[in-house]
Amino acid sequence: MGVVVQKYGGTSVGSVERIKNVARRVVETRRQGNQVVVVVSAMSGETDRLITLANEINPRHNRREHDMLVSSGEQVSISLLAMAIEGLGEKAVSLLGSQVSIKTDSDHSRARITEIGGERIRRALADDYIVVVAGFQGVNEAGDITTLGRGGSDTSAVAVAAALPADVCEIYTDVDGIYTTDPNICDKARKLERISYEEMLELASLGAKVLQIRSVEFAKKYGIPLHVRSSFSDSQGTIVCREEECMEKAIVSGVAYSKSDAKITICGIPDRPGIAASIFTAIADQGIVVDMIIQNISDEGLTDLTFTVPKLDYDQALEALEKFNREVGARQIVGDRNIAKVSIVGIGMRTHANVASRMFQALARENINIMMISTSEIKVSCVIEEKYTELAVRVLHDEFDLAGEGTNEDD
Ligand code: ASP
Ligand code: MG
Repeated sequence: MGVVVQKYGGTSVGSVERIKNVARRVVETRRQGNQVVVVVSAMSGETDRLITLANEINPRHNRREHDMLVSSGEQVSISLLAMAIEGLGEKAVSLLGSQVSIKTDSDHSRARITEIGGERIRRALADDYIVVVAGFQGVNEAGDITTLGRGGSDTSAVAVAAALPADVCEIYTDVDGIYTTDPNICDKARKLERISYEEMLELASLGAKVLQIRSVEFAKKYGIPLHVRSSFSDSQGTIVCREEECMEKAIVSGVAYSKSDAKITICGIPDRPGIAASIFTAIADQGIVVDMIIQNISDEGLTDLTFTVPKLDYDQALEALEKFNREVGARQIVGDRNIAKVSIVGIGMRTHANVASRMFQALARENINIMMISTSEIKVSCVIEEKYTELAVRVLHDEFDLAGEGTNEDD
């Protein structure tokens, strides 16, 4: 007998039929002798619908009201699921974030969990209830509803699992695990049995949307193993766990890509202290997050600076730079939206020297030009022309033999 936390995403509770299907799974887990806590998202499309409504009413609505509105999607799905479970003959109780004291800071629409009281959940479990908790939402010190950012139900589930504590946290979604790359563009993509928290964090921040980044941070901090699996099948998914528990020890575990950034180059700016500081302050003041940055060596006191920003913020970033440039007088500011970032991720990189060069050679063989490079201990990312994204992903997947079952040792 164990304590199991199961989280179901929007697609898994997207219709009456699907909610009933989830209820069957939950009840089955209960009847195997476990105590079960279920965390659910809003029915698929619901959060988007609510956000659109808010923007139609007033695009500049305040974030407290935003949270009051968008958190309502989860209230619907938890009550429906509790009813479905009761219909199958088990006791169930649905609870909002505030009722289980998921306490957060007051940063509405992207609040962070500060504390979670498992008491109410533990009591209900002891009384033989299946507990259904609303994902995505919490409550701040003032008693106002907050939300945890898109995909935040993952984090709710891991936080609940850490607070209880649970033996396992299962994340049910519409894919059956974490893949070596996006199966939609590479038909050789393979489901991983295990992946480390560190690799998952890199993949998530590179755009793999299966798990909210914060949920992985939380799981890592509290050592909660995550089992990412499909709510539509019984097959084993992928376990996200500590590095020591990963058998595969591959040099490269996954290839990720993202088309969501654009590139900006400022040419011929004075190479003196304070210039980079003021450029990136001008951008940060707009709330824009910069990803990669490259600065050239200077030539006659002038240098070039290239960096990437989200495509969505591209126009705003250019505008801010034009303004800034009236004071500094750079020779030229040019931008390019048609770029993509492809990345390889793997803990084995720590101990293998030639991983980056293999990546560059593989891209070169296909005549794909690399515009920017950045690395971390377990990641190499290259910015390339957007139109080569799919080709680059497939080439790298082959180069590091990710379709094979074994390791991708080159020696
Ligand atoms: N319903 C929220 C969203 O769509 C939270 C979640 O699904 O995890 O982002
Ligand atoms: Mg999700």
